[in-house]
Amino acid sequence: MRSRIIKNRCGKILELRNCRKFFQNELLLLFPVCFVINNELSLYKKGKILIMGKIKFIYKVLFIVVFIIQANHINAQQKVEGILYLDNEPVSLKIVDGRIAEIERLSSKPTASAVYIAPGLIDIQINGYMGIDFASQDLTIEGLREATKALWKEGVTTFLPTLITADQESLKNSFSILSESLDDEEIGMSIPGFHLEGPYISPVKGFRGAHLEKYIRQPDWNEFMELQKAANNGIKLITVAPEVEGAIPFIQECSKNGIVVSLGHHNGNTEQIKQATDAGASMSTHLGNGCANMINRHNNPLWPQLADDRISASIIADGFHLTREEVQCFYKIKGSNRTILVSDALDLAGLEPGEYIRWERKVLLTPDVVKFPAENVLAGAASPLSTCVGNIMKFTQCTLLDAIQMASTNPAQLIGLDNIGEISPGKRADLILFTMEEGKMVIQKTIVAGKVVYSKQ
Ligand SMILES: [Zn+2]
Repeated sequence: MRSRIIKNRCGKILELRNCRKFFQNELLLLFPVCFVINNELSLYKKGKILIMGKIKFIYKVLFIVVFIIQANHINAQQKVEGILYLDNEPVSLKIVDGRIAEIERLSSKPTASAVYIAPGLIDIQINGYMGIDFASQDLTIEGLREATKALWKEGVTTFLPTLITADQESLKNSFSILSESLDDEEIGMSIPGFHLEGPYISPVKGFRGAHLEKYIRQPDWNEFMELQKAANNGIKLITVAPEVEGAIPFIQECSKNGIVVSLGHHNGNTEQIKQATDAGASMSTHLGNGCANMINRHNNPLWPQLADDRISASIIADGFHLTREEVQCFYKIKGSNRTILVSDALDLAGLEPGEYIRWERKVLLTPDVVKFPAENVLAGAASPLSTCVGNIMKFTQCTLLDAIQMASTNPAQLIGLDNIGEISPGKRADLILFTMEEGKMVIQKTIVAGKVVYSKQ
């Protein structure tokens, strides 16, 4: 009976704290406490504790509880030092309960091998990583966990697993597997939702890219809602072609429901792109890709998307999907405020270079990209977002601040993730510590909600 009361007391304390961290950080501490309490209880049962003993017992329990709470508070605080990406000045970030509490300026000057601090990278278009294909019908939460941990190593603290055009049943199945990650204790913080690229895109060769024509269809809100239901409302971003029948009312419906619409794999004309943007579309999906090789030099889908300031452009700056000059021009037009870096990586990204079989065809993974070796043409992207950060700095001479804005702040704002993508008090402590070595970003440490999830050493 008495031990049940004690248990209830413990339960009450746990309820008061009401957070997972308590279980994670303090459960171990509770073991010795329970041991002491049990010992006391057995003495009590044996009648060995008298009135004074009882008071001592209560004090002892109180002391231990206060100690635990104090210990937890100390544990929840930490400091991270480095060169702040915003102004290249040394800082110490105070993190309390997984959030940035304070930015303290330090007097020591940065050295040549300075470690920078920036918000974690946010990849809103990624199809898989380290051999884990997010569209695989055999995907498991464990596979997703593996891919997430591999992405942490590359400085990606948040990503939207992306599914491309497929039949409805496969998409439903994929989304129901992916949706398990949303509330996962370990990786849920890194997966706020998903990107559906298709199936409501252009069926025309060239514009449809690698999407299979047989599964491309016209927008259908009810059909989409079936997917959204399977995804547990996790679809945050959808890529649509503005010229297909029913696209404009579909985009309006998405906007009304808080789903971000991006224009991609399309051959929309000026009027169609304008109507889509009026309806709420706010991004171009991998601008310059998902486009036929031969287009009219005046009337093509690129100019109206570049000309409209309401549209942000996501780009694959891996050095293969766009030429250096294309990246330079897109950046000059959209600037660091309206450019978003994406990896669009295939599941092969992160694996050892070599030959693999994908889509029943032989593909060649180089250190940077996936090719069809027979034709020597691109088959997909394989560079993590961190590589794109280094590339865009090299191609455009933009600052580190600009590059991080394009790889973290802008994607966070696009999807409405107000708590990440910046370093300022109150934001979640999703951070990367890195060095820039020969123009490449080398991740030293990755922190998600104040917890170190990767450390190079
Ligand atoms: Zn695409």
